[in-house]
Amino acid sequence: MPETDLGIRCDYLITMSSDQPQVQRDQFIGITGSKITEVGPWKNQSASTFVHARNRAVLPGMVNGHSHLAMTLFKGLADDLPFQKWLHDYILPLESKLVNPDFVKTGTELAALELIRFGVTTVCDSYFHMDVAGNALDRAGLRAIISECITDFPAPDKREDPGGDFRILDQIKERYSKHETITASLAPHAPYSVSDDLFRKSAEYSRKHGMLMNIHVSETAFEVQQSLEKYKKTPVARLHDLGVMNSPCVFAHCVHLTNEDMSLMAKCNTGVIHNPESNMKLSAGTAPVIQMLKHKLNVGLGTDGAASNNNLGMFHEMDTAAKLQKLAGHDNSIITAYEVLRFATLGGACALGLGDKIGSIESGKFADLIIVDLSEAHMQPVHNVLSQLVYSASGQEVCTVICNGQILFDAGDYKTLEPEAIIKNSQRWRDNIQKSLGQ
Ligand SMILES: [Zn+2]
Repeated sequence: MPETDLGIRCDYLITMSSDQPQVQRDQFIGITGSKITEVGPWKNQSASTFVHARNRAVLPGMVNGHSHLAMTLFKGLADDLPFQKWLHDYILPLESKLVNPDFVKTGTELAALELIRFGVTTVCDSYFHMDVAGNALDRAGLRAIISECITDFPAPDKREDPGGDFRILDQIKERYSKHETITASLAPHAPYSVSDDLFRKSAEYSRKHGMLMNIHVSETAFEVQQSLEKYKKTPVARLHDLGVMNSPCVFAHCVHLTNEDMSLMAKCNTGVIHNPESNMKLSAGTAPVIQMLKHKLNVGLGTDGAASNNNLGMFHEMDTAAKLQKLAGHDNSIITAYEVLRFATLGGACALGLGDKIGSIESGKFADLIIVDLSEAHMQPVHNVLSQLVYSASGQEVCTVICNGQILFDAGDYKTLEPEAIIKNSQRWRDNIQKSLGQ
């Protein structure tokens, strides 16, 4: 048996492999190459590199199940405006004018810095120029599903090149077909922006290449109303009837679902990514998460793009997800800290079709895990580490981030990225965006 490359003695270990809340004390994790090779009680095991996570919790890396990373460059640009004004006067015109490969590279790198700092090891990203985003995320060492956005409107990467989105899709499909951490996927944007024909074409592509489809679904009441008027069915029923849901799918948002929608999704094993902070900020509504669980849907959590959040960390998202359901359900026992921690880890992994590879700390799975410091005042005293992680932590407590067996962040240092250069580039883009707004 090869020697363990990295061994971690864990003061508190949360593997997420149990359905019931479980925190184990004084455990050991062995990592060899990219995989977890041992999980069990501490018995003086040895390893080439050894870490003693004293007064720290070790848990699976967070899975940010829905985002548009490059939009980080639009963060804080036009907040607190009515939704239609935000979208049509700012975001869409700026995207059409400015989004190019350098924008996507800089925005994705800036986002990767934030993801890593706040303990995210897997992200499902959809945007334009995903060949460029894939390069940036690969360099960062993150695990990512990169979804090329497909729409009927002239997206930035097919303005001068109609069909450019499917060409980029072909490229990333080839490049990442055997890649361990980057997976290519497609994102037909939403039922209101994609025609029946384009949905059929996307579903055929997905089926042929076994690719996940990542779609915004039933985000607003307006969208559902429009669908009922135009197609005489809900967005989910339309996607079902078009055959889209016969392919592997994950639906983001799902704020306005009927019971029939949820039954169809359960039947088709369609995953859900819940984005509570974006839904609150854009005033979209409260997703029926408790009913989703009753329908046995795989529920994950996402931040959505930073323009509608405004951060990419999952600790805030867990706190919000729990409190929003408690408020909406008029019952503070309706959801537990452990359940939302599950959304942010194994639930998200399962919703994205990665449940057998990541999302929990188990022998044979990829070594994606984080170490969280419990020693500061706001994390003490530790009566219940699960409560502390969900309701007290901000993500700044993450002190070590490991993805695919590789240390990406430790004791304040990034191991794969150069923050100064990335932040300088993002400031250059801030100036470009401001100049463009002034014109
Ligand atoms: Zn989105």
